[in-house]
Amino acid sequence: MPDIKVTPLGAGQDVGRSCILLSIGGKNIMLDCGMHMGYNDERRFPDFTYIVPEGPVTSYLDCVIISHFHLDHCGALPFLTEMVGYNGPIYMTHPTKAIAPILLEDMRKLMVERKGESNFFTSQMIKDCMKKVIAVTLHQTVMVDDELEIKAYYAGHVLGAAMFRVRVGSQSVVYTGDYNMTPDRHLGAAWIDKCRPDLLISESTYATTIRDSKRCRERDFLKKVHECVDRGGKVLIPVFALGRAQELCILLETYWERMNLKVPIYFAVGLTEKATNYYKMFITWTNQKIRKTFVQRNMFDFKHIKPFDKSYIENPGAMVVIMPGFCVVGTVGHKILNGAKKVELENRQIVEVKMSVEYMSFSAHADAKGIMQLIQYCEPRNVMLVHGEAAKMQFLKEKIKQEFGVECYNPANGETCVITTMPDIPVDVSLSLLKEEAAIHDRLPPDPKRQRLIHGVLVMKENSMCLMDVDRACSEAGVNRHQIRFTSTITLDDPGPPSRTAEKLQQLIAGRLKDWSVQLTEGSSISVESVLIKVETTEDDQKNVLVSWTNQDEELGSYILELLQNMGR
Ligand SMILES: [Zn+2]
Repeated sequence: MPDIKVTPLGAGQDVGRSCILLSIGGKNIMLDCGMHMGYNDERRFPDFTYIVPEGPVTSYLDCVIISHFHLDHCGALPFLTEMVGYNGPIYMTHPTKAIAPILLEDMRKLMVERKGESNFFTSQMIKDCMKKVIAVTLHQTVMVDDELEIKAYYAGHVLGAAMFRVRVGSQSVVYTGDYNMTPDRHLGAAWIDKCRPDLLISESTYATTIRDSKRCRERDFLKKVHECVDRGGKVLIPVFALGRAQELCILLETYWERMNLKVPIYFAVGLTEKATNYYKMFITWTNQKIRKTFVQRNMFDFKHIKPFDKSYIENPGAMVVIMPGFCVVGTVGHKILNGAKKVELENRQIVEVKMSVEYMSFSAHADAKGIMQLIQYCEPRNVMLVHGEAAKMQFLKEKIKQEFGVECYNPANGETCVITTMPDIPVDVSLSLLKEEAAIHDRLPPDPKRQRLIHGVLVMKENSMCLMDVDRACSEAGVNRHQIRFTSTITLDDPGPPSRTAEKLQQLIAGRLKDWSVQLTEGSSISVESVLIKVETTEDDQKNVLVSWTNQDEELGSYILELLQNMGR
């Protein structure tokens, strides 16, 4: 099975609902099991009937791997395990396992309790689902079974985010999930070793963007917040992605400290407070600077940021409130972001929007430069782009092909990509053959940059292959060794005894083949290696010169024959 097959069920030329089926070395793996936050119908979950139209799905999947806790990467997991019925192994990192159920429960509440969704997974289902998860540590090699091996690498992006390398035999694939190649305020940059996978499946959210420095965006953001509180205004900061909330807290905390500001900052309690506790717990996952300050003061124990209570909103004067939450279609947040002047609240009360609205992007994804950098790091043989827009992918795809000379794919959802790989075939080499080869090269060890040839007979025994010398191959196969000789005859007009003619020929050949031993043997024969030259007198007193050689000395034999044919011309 030298082919690797990949079919996106989600994130194929699309952002959101990441779910990719990978078939490698006879194993089937699901990479991420995400939910589409923009849909309210059955399109929000990947179409698992693609795996098997009916009946249990477990026997068709060897494992499920989740890259990080964002719901567009894990939101459909309880649906897959508790409603579709998958009960095979699921892998994710420890922080992802700790934080994912908090986000799943929060989303479930939003869907069921606020939007009145029925046919959705329950709290108990989330708990049961998480019990099936096997947590992994970075750089730990995990054997799913005897042949399937997985390994997690640091991806930055959010706490616990990991890239996964999947390996079966000599074939391997790296799946990035979401990642970023530049460290931010609380997390380090993604890293992977030069593992040369057959395929790198990379997200491409910012495929065509080389983002302006984060410093600029941060300065811009802080300036706007500061201006607003200076005017005595209230700043409300909804943060969509968990992880970014922590990043903004650190940003504001350090700014407040530096500028000696007294305006209160509140943090909406609940979900994110729980998550911040996990950030404290998994401090080893954060970046070095935070780890260092941790000794004196935990970066996540904020001095200026206090828990928020709803009643505070009536307090007079300036304040900043950070609240994590979704701004997907249908929510008040989404309407306000789109410039609505009046919005209807849950209690049907209509209120006028009097605030000014700014949208700022702080999401931590690799930009075009980062994607190219990762390709350079791990040197894949093929690249596949997912989790991005089709047009942008097309642009980056051409760039990757040009720059790295590797094939690049961007399948749509439901489209299968077949990637042919060159499997390594292990071959045993007999000791005598190796010694012979080493002797030719003065017993120098092989230099990986310079090819050395080894000649032998490739013998297949049972399921293994062995390269050996001809004699051993013959004796193992129980056959006699045959030799093929080529013979050609030239007629010469040279009076006198044949031995004299032979002497003359020997001198001629020896004159041309200075490094060879050209022997005159009894009678009227000459030998050079396996080449034999024999002089005979014919009936009409001419000389017949027979030249013969084995196929091993084909070059030498032809050379001598040509020499004799052209003699005297
Ligand atoms: Zn993400």
